[in-house]
Amino acid sequence: MLVLKFGGTSVGSVENIEKVKTIVDDNAPKIVVLSAMSGSTNNLVAIAEAILHNQTEAALKLIAQLKEKNKQTAYHLIQNSSVLQEVVNYINQIDNTLLSFTHNNSIPNFQNTVLAQGELFSTFLVNAYLNEQGIASSIIPALDFMRVDKEGEPDLFYIQQNIKRLLSQQKDTQIFITQGFISLDARGEVTNLQRGGSDYTATIIGAAIKAEEVQIWTDIDGFHNNDPRFVENTYSIPQLSFDEAAELAYFGAKILHPQTVLPVRALDIPVRLKNTMQPEAEGTLISNEISSEGIKAIAAKDGITVIKIKSERMLLAHGFLKRVFEIFEKYQTAIDMVTTSEIAVSLTIDNTQFLDEIVAELEKFSAVTVEDKMSIVCLAGNNIVNHPETSKLFQILNDVSIRMIAYGGSNNNISLLINTQDKPNTLQQLNHYIFKTQVASVAPSV
Ligand code: ASP
Ligand code: MG
Repeated sequence: MLVLKFGGTSVGSVENIEKVKTIVDDNAPKIVVLSAMSGSTNNLVAIAEAILHNQTEAALKLIAQLKEKNKQTAYHLIQNSSVLQEVVNYINQIDNTLLSFTHNNSIPNFQNTVLAQGELFSTFLVNAYLNEQGIASSIIPALDFMRVDKEGEPDLFYIQQNIKRLLSQQKDTQIFITQGFISLDARGEVTNLQRGGSDYTATIIGAAIKAEEVQIWTDIDGFHNNDPRFVENTYSIPQLSFDEAAELAYFGAKILHPQTVLPVRALDIPVRLKNTMQPEAEGTLISNEISSEGIKAIAAKDGITVIKIKSERMLLAHGFLKRVFEIFEKYQTAIDMVTTSEIAVSLTIDNTQFLDEIVAELEKFSAVTVEDKMSIVCLAGNNIVNHPETSKLFQILNDVSIRMIAYGGSNNNISLLINTQDKPNTLQQLNHYIFKTQVASVAPSV
């Protein structure tokens, strides 16, 4: 069995939903995981915020806009009047749920219940449409099998038992449709797998049913060797190992939720990234295979803050780093890059929620400096650390000021910390040095 996940753009317009139909309608048994229509989760976040802040008028306006958007899509997609009526009834049901929260939002996890409406609608709509088109699909509700434990980790045993039960109840169905992103928590309340979490849903399901393959259908043709927003002539990478994908996932978060490959990697279930708008394009296959060595991809992440911690006491002292790391642990702040000298350590974070508290604690025993607006540039590829071509990348030291270099942390990654303003130049120059293309700038599209 295959698991196919379609993202927000793929279900975001009548035209694209028609493309989804063509892709899924091939008589092979599959589970289809859908995101909310593009923009819907953002709309629902705004609705939940407005309700939470008692901005009832604003909330009512946003709820009405969402209802109208959903109705327009349904009217354009569905021809059969009784099927259309069912969809409209469902839209009204969602509308009533959202409206009820403007009177009373005291139910637990009300915000998550609001956010869940996006996936609940997209799956209802697409299932109704496929049925109208004569395709035998049916919904298996994510809230009937998807559950995370107290730590927010998928409860694989529970998921496996329940999904198997649901599938076995409908032996003749070929296409099962379910909601990405939404889940129950350990107490049985509605929660979600964080923004972009539908990819993660797909691989959790893939692991639970031991799928042959998990396909992530999106609006680009896989992982590119560099960021196409800043560099011309990038190309999609046909194959990545799980290690390479794990290194890039954090940087390619817009393409793939960072945790996506975790559930399937140990089971050796490949993940294929495909483009709904261009199904014939090869995309990227993520699998256990190591197809080549050397730098394969460059990616960058903005919004990085670097903290430099300097202390003479660090010289020949043991336990210094433990003391530093314990502070980050206390504030549940993940550290991404670390470099050390004899008397100083620099590290980066992307979550600055507790930055002031962290700095205050560090200052008790060291001198601390903080710089923001930094970016991490990641170069990934199997065994790049030992590869003869890798030295080429260090020509970049002539072009931009590099604040930190992480080399040797893994064989598959080298990371550079730069000022975000130097990012376009860094990506273009690295492209030139490594992939031998001309330095050519394109205007950023975002
Ligand atoms: N709809 C959710 C979001 O926009 C989950 C997803 O699309 O993956 O974040
Ligand atoms: Mg996504």
